[in-house]
Amino acid sequence: MKYALVTGGSRGIGRACSIRLAENGYYVIINYHSNQEEAEKALLMVREKGSDGEIMKFDVSDQKEVEGALSTWIEKHEGSYISVLVNNAGIRKDALVMWMKDDEWHDVINTNLNSFLYVTRILTKDMLINKFGRIINVVSLSGLKGLPGQANYSAAKAGVIGATKAMAQEVAKKKVTVNAVAPGFIRTDMTKDMDESQLKAMIPMGRFGNPEEVAAIVGFLASDEASYITGAVINVNGGLYT
Ligand code: NAP
Repeated sequence: MKYALVTGGSRGIGRACSIRLAENGYYVIINYHSNQEEAEKALLMVREKGSDGEIMKFDVSDQKEVEGALSTWIEKHEGSYISVLVNNAGIRKDALVMWMKDDEWHDVINTNLNSFLYVTRILTKDMLINKFGRIINVVSLSGLKGLPGQANYSAAKAGVIGATKAMAQEVAKKKVTVNAVAPGFIRTDMTKDMDESQLKAMIPMGRFGNPEEVAAIVGFLASDEASYITGAVINVNGGLYT
Protein backbone atom coordinates (compact mmCIF):
# COMPACT_ATOMS: atom_id res chain seq x y z
CA MET A 1 0.00 0.00 0.00
CA LYS A 2 1.32 3.46 -0.95
CA TYR A 3 0.11 6.19 1.41
CA ALA A 4 -0.39 9.89 0.65
CA LEU A 5 -1.53 12.67 2.97
CA VAL A 6 -3.26 15.75 1.57
CA THR A 7 -3.78 18.52 4.10
CA GLY A 8 -7.04 20.31 3.38
CA GLY A 9 -7.76 17.38 1.08
CA SER A 10 -11.51 17.65 1.52
CA ARG A 11 -12.41 20.62 -0.69
CA GLY A 12 -11.15 22.63 -3.66
CA ILE A 13 -7.60 22.04 -4.87
CA GLY A 14 -6.91 19.56 -2.06
CA ARG A 15 -9.88 17.41 -3.03
CA ALA A 16 -8.75 17.34 -6.65
CA CYS A 17 -5.28 16.28 -5.43
CA SER A 18 -6.81 13.51 -3.30
CA ILE A 19 -8.69 12.19 -6.32
CA ARG A 20 -5.66 12.46 -8.58
CA LEU A 21 -3.47 10.56 -6.12
CA ALA A 22 -6.18 7.89 -5.82
CA GLU A 23 -6.04 7.54 -9.63
CA ASN A 24 -2.28 7.03 -9.25
CA GLY A 25 -2.96 4.13 -6.86
CA TYR A 26 -2.43 5.87 -3.54
CA TYR A 27 -4.37 5.23 -0.36
CA VAL A 28 -5.25 8.83 0.48
CA ILE A 29 -5.42 10.32 3.97
CA ILE A 30 -7.73 13.29 3.59
CA ASN A 31 -7.10 15.90 6.25
CA TYR A 32 -9.76 18.49 7.04
CA HIS A 33 -10.37 21.07 9.73
CA SER A 34 -14.11 21.40 10.39
CA ASN A 35 -16.30 20.35 7.47
CA GLN A 36 -16.66 16.59 7.92
CA GLU A 37 -19.44 16.30 5.33
CA GLU A 38 -17.18 17.59 2.54
CA ALA A 39 -14.35 15.34 3.75
CA GLU A 40 -16.64 12.32 3.52
CA LYS A 41 -17.66 13.35 0.00
CA ALA A 42 -13.99 13.53 -0.98
CA LEU A 43 -13.42 10.05 0.45
CA LEU A 44 -16.31 8.68 -1.64
CA MET A 45 -14.73 10.21 -4.74
CA VAL A 46 -11.39 8.59 -3.85
CA ARG A 47 -13.16 5.23 -3.55
CA GLU A 48 -14.93 5.78 -6.88
CA LYS A 49 -11.46 5.82 -8.44
CA GLY A 50 -10.95 2.27 -7.20
CA SER A 51 -8.61 3.24 -4.39
CA ASP A 52 -9.18 3.72 -0.69
CA GLY A 53 -8.45 6.25 2.01
CA GLU A 54 -9.59 7.76 5.27
CA ILE A 55 -10.48 11.17 6.63
CA MET A 56 -8.35 12.71 9.35
CA LYS A 57 -9.39 15.77 11.32
CA PHE A 58 -6.74 18.15 12.61
CA ASP A 59 -5.98 21.83 12.51
CA VAL A 60 -2.70 22.24 10.60
CA SER A 61 -1.95 25.42 12.54
CA ASP A 62 -2.08 23.61 15.88
CA GLN A 63 1.21 21.83 16.53
CA LYS A 64 -0.22 19.55 19.24
CA GLU A 65 -3.17 18.46 17.09
CA VAL A 66 -0.94 17.77 14.10
CA GLU A 67 1.59 15.76 16.07
CA GLY A 68 -1.13 13.91 18.01
CA ALA A 69 -3.00 12.80 14.88
CA LEU A 70 0.05 11.88 12.84
CA SER A 71 2.00 10.10 15.57
CA THR A 72 -1.10 7.98 16.32
CA TRP A 73 -1.34 7.05 12.62
CA ILE A 74 2.38 6.22 12.46
CA GLU A 75 2.17 4.01 15.59
CA LYS A 76 -0.79 2.09 14.12
CA HIS A 77 0.95 1.50 10.78
CA GLU A 78 4.27 -0.02 11.70
CA GLY A 79 6.13 -1.11 8.60
CA SER A 80 4.30 1.41 6.38
CA TYR A 81 4.85 5.10 5.89
CA ILE A 82 3.38 8.15 4.22
CA SER A 83 5.53 8.63 1.13
CA VAL A 84 3.64 11.54 -0.44
CA LEU A 85 2.76 14.69 1.46
CA VAL A 86 0.78 17.50 -0.14
CA ASN A 87 0.86 20.56 2.11
CA ASN A 88 -2.26 22.18 0.70
CA ALA A 89 -4.43 23.46 3.57
CA GLY A 90 -4.63 27.23 3.52
CA ILE A 91 -6.72 30.25 4.31
CA ARG A 92 -6.76 33.90 3.35
CA LYS A 93 -7.80 36.88 5.48
CA ASP A 94 -7.19 39.88 3.27
CA ALA A 95 -6.65 43.40 4.56
CA LEU A 96 -4.37 46.31 3.73
CA VAL A 97 -1.33 46.35 6.03
CA MET A 98 -2.49 49.64 7.48
CA TRP A 99 -5.73 48.06 8.67
CA MET A 100 -4.54 44.51 9.32
CA LYS A 101 -5.43 43.09 12.72
CA ASP A 102 -2.96 40.93 14.66
CA ASP A 103 -5.14 37.84 14.36
CA GLU A 104 -5.49 38.29 10.58
CA TRP A 105 -1.69 38.24 10.33
CA HIS A 106 -1.05 35.41 12.78
CA ASP A 107 -3.89 33.11 11.63
CA VAL A 108 -2.71 33.25 8.03
CA ILE A 109 0.96 32.75 8.96
CA ASN A 110 0.11 29.87 11.31
CA THR A 111 -2.15 28.07 8.86
CA ASN A 112 -0.18 28.62 5.66
CA LEU A 113 3.44 28.71 6.88
CA ASN A 114 3.93 27.24 10.36
CA SER A 115 1.83 24.23 9.34
CA PHE A 116 4.57 23.38 6.84
CA LEU A 117 6.95 22.69 9.72
CA TYR A 118 4.48 20.86 11.95
CA VAL A 119 3.28 18.43 9.28
CA THR A 120 6.46 17.97 7.24
CA ARG A 121 8.85 17.44 10.14
CA ILE A 122 7.03 14.43 11.54
CA LEU A 123 6.75 12.65 8.15
CA THR A 124 10.25 13.32 6.85
CA LYS A 125 12.10 10.74 8.97
CA ASP A 126 10.37 7.74 7.39
CA MET A 127 10.84 9.17 3.89
CA LEU A 128 14.58 9.42 4.55
CA ILE A 129 14.80 5.92 6.05
CA ASN A 130 12.91 4.47 3.07
CA LYS A 131 14.87 6.58 0.58
CA PHE A 132 11.74 7.77 -1.20
CA GLY A 133 9.49 10.71 -0.54
CA ARG A 134 7.56 13.43 -2.29
CA ILE A 135 6.73 16.69 -0.54
CA ILE A 136 4.58 19.05 -2.57
CA ASN A 137 3.69 22.45 -1.19
CA VAL A 138 0.75 24.36 -2.61
CA VAL A 139 1.85 27.99 -2.55
CA SER A 140 0.50 30.88 -4.63
CA LEU A 141 1.12 33.51 -7.24
CA SER A 142 0.72 35.84 -4.26
CA GLY A 143 3.91 34.46 -2.70
CA LEU A 144 5.91 35.14 -5.85
CA LYS A 145 4.49 38.44 -7.01
CA GLY A 146 2.95 39.90 -3.85
CA LEU A 147 -0.68 40.93 -4.16
CA PRO A 148 -2.06 44.10 -2.54
CA GLY A 149 -4.36 43.34 0.37
CA GLN A 150 -2.58 40.04 0.97
CA ALA A 151 0.65 40.95 2.80
CA ASN A 152 -0.04 38.20 5.37
CA TYR A 153 -0.82 35.58 2.71
CA SER A 154 2.02 36.70 0.39
CA ALA A 155 4.48 36.53 3.30
CA ALA A 156 3.31 33.06 4.31
CA LYS A 157 3.46 31.65 0.78
CA ALA A 158 6.85 33.29 0.10
CA GLY A 159 8.04 31.68 3.34
CA VAL A 160 6.96 28.24 2.15
CA ILE A 161 8.73 28.84 -1.18
CA GLY A 162 11.96 29.57 0.72
CA ALA A 163 11.49 26.50 2.91
CA THR A 164 10.85 24.37 -0.19
CA LYS A 165 14.13 25.41 -1.79
CA ALA A 166 16.11 24.94 1.45
CA MET A 167 14.65 21.58 2.38
CA ALA A 168 15.03 20.25 -1.16
CA GLN A 169 18.80 20.53 -0.71
CA GLU A 170 18.71 18.89 2.73
CA VAL A 171 17.04 15.66 1.60
CA ALA A 172 17.94 15.30 -2.09
CA LYS A 173 20.57 12.60 -1.53
CA LYS A 174 17.94 10.35 0.06
CA LYS A 175 15.69 10.59 -3.02
CA VAL A 176 13.15 12.78 -1.25
CA THR A 177 11.99 15.65 -3.45
CA VAL A 178 10.47 18.90 -2.23
CA ASN A 179 8.64 21.11 -4.72
CA ALA A 180 6.06 23.88 -4.75
CA VAL A 181 3.11 24.46 -7.04
CA ALA A 182 1.96 28.07 -7.35
CA PRO A 183 -1.61 28.45 -8.59
CA GLY A 184 -2.99 31.73 -9.87
CA PHE A 185 -6.76 32.20 -9.66
CA ILE A 186 -8.50 28.84 -9.29
CA ARG A 187 -12.27 28.29 -8.99
CA THR A 188 -12.81 27.08 -5.40
CA ASP A 189 -14.61 28.23 -2.26
CA MET A 190 -11.56 30.37 -1.51
CA THR A 191 -12.13 32.54 -4.58
CA LYS A 192 -15.93 32.51 -4.68
CA ASP A 193 -16.07 36.11 -3.42
CA MET A 194 -13.91 37.26 -6.35
CA ASP A 195 -15.40 38.60 -9.57
CA GLU A 196 -14.08 36.28 -12.28
CA SER A 197 -15.72 38.27 -15.07
CA GLN A 198 -13.65 41.30 -14.08
CA LEU A 199 -10.40 39.60 -13.03
CA LYS A 200 -10.17 37.35 -16.09
CA ALA A 201 -9.25 40.39 -18.19
CA MET A 202 -5.75 40.33 -16.70
CA ILE A 203 -5.22 36.59 -17.20
CA PRO A 204 -3.69 35.77 -20.62
CA MET A 205 -5.84 32.63 -20.86
CA GLY A 206 -8.92 34.69 -20.06
CA ARG A 207 -10.33 32.50 -17.30
CA PHE A 208 -9.81 31.15 -13.79
CA GLY A 209 -8.28 27.67 -13.57
CA ASN A 210 -9.90 24.50 -12.27
CA PRO A 211 -8.66 22.53 -9.25
CA GLU A 212 -7.97 19.55 -11.54
CA GLU A 213 -5.48 21.65 -13.50
CA VAL A 214 -3.45 22.12 -10.31
CA ALA A 215 -3.90 18.50 -9.22
CA ALA A 216 -2.46 17.29 -12.53
CA ILE A 217 0.95 18.78 -11.76
CA VAL A 218 0.76 17.63 -8.13
CA GLY A 219 0.09 14.10 -9.40
CA PHE A 220 3.08 14.31 -11.72
CA LEU A 221 5.41 15.64 -9.00
CA ALA A 222 4.32 12.73 -6.78
CA SER A 223 5.15 10.18 -9.46
CA ASP A 224 8.37 8.25 -10.08
CA GLU A 225 8.73 10.15 -13.35
CA ALA A 226 9.44 13.39 -11.44
CA SER A 227 12.51 11.88 -9.77
CA TYR A 228 14.95 14.61 -10.94
CA ILE A 229 12.76 17.61 -10.11
CA THR A 230 13.36 19.18 -6.71
CA GLY A 231 13.40 22.67 -5.26
CA ALA A 232 11.19 23.82 -8.12
CA VAL A 233 8.27 26.23 -8.04
CA ILE A 234 5.83 25.46 -10.84
CA ASN A 235 3.27 28.07 -11.86
CA VAL A 236 -0.27 27.06 -12.78
CA ASN A 237 -1.79 30.42 -13.56
CA GLY A 238 -2.94 30.74 -17.17
CA GLY A 239 0.09 32.88 -18.05
CA LEU A 240 -0.65 35.55 -15.45
CA TYR A 241 2.88 35.60 -14.06
CA THR A 242 5.86 34.64 -16.16
P1 NAP B 1 -10.63 25.98 -0.11
O1 NAP B 1 -11.51 25.61 -1.24
O2 NAP B 1 -11.03 27.08 0.80
O3 NAP B 1 -10.33 24.65 0.74
C1 NAP B 1 -9.50 24.76 1.86
C2 NAP B 1 -9.21 23.38 2.41
O4 NAP B 1 -8.26 23.54 3.48
C3 NAP B 1 -10.42 22.70 3.01
O5 NAP B 1 -10.27 21.31 2.83
C4 NAP B 1 -10.32 23.07 4.49
O6 NAP B 1 -10.95 22.12 5.35
C5 NAP B 1 -8.81 23.01 4.68
N1 NAP B 1 -8.35 23.81 5.80
C6 NAP B 1 -8.47 25.15 6.00
N2 NAP B 1 -7.90 25.50 7.16
C7 NAP B 1 -7.40 24.37 7.71
C8 NAP B 1 -6.72 24.06 8.90
N3 NAP B 1 -6.41 25.01 9.80
N4 NAP B 1 -6.39 22.77 9.15
C9 NAP B 1 -6.69 21.79 8.26
N5 NAP B 1 -7.34 22.01 7.12
C10 NAP B 1 -7.69 23.29 6.85
O7 NAP B 1 -9.18 26.40 -0.64
P2 NAP B 1 -8.47 26.14 -2.05
O8 NAP B 1 -8.79 27.27 -2.94
O9 NAP B 1 -8.70 24.76 -2.50
O10 NAP B 1 -6.94 26.34 -1.63
C11 NAP B 1 -6.08 25.24 -1.38
C12 NAP B 1 -4.65 25.75 -1.32
O11 NAP B 1 -4.34 26.39 -2.55
C13 NAP B 1 -4.41 26.80 -0.25
O12 NAP B 1 -3.13 26.63 0.32
C14 NAP B 1 -4.47 28.11 -0.99
O13 NAP B 1 -3.75 29.10 -0.34
C15 NAP B 1 -3.85 27.69 -2.30
N6 NAP B 1 -4.19 28.55 -3.43
C16 NAP B 1 -5.47 28.68 -3.85
C17 NAP B 1 -5.75 29.51 -4.94
C18 NAP B 1 -7.15 29.69 -5.49
O14 NAP B 1 -7.31 30.53 -6.38
N7 NAP B 1 -8.14 28.97 -5.03
C19 NAP B 1 -4.72 30.20 -5.55
C20 NAP B 1 -3.43 30.05 -5.08
C21 NAP B 1 -3.17 29.20 -4.03
P3 NAP B 1 -12.40 22.45 6.04
O15 NAP B 1 -13.41 22.40 4.93
O16 NAP B 1 -12.60 21.36 7.05
O17 NAP B 1 -12.27 23.81 6.64
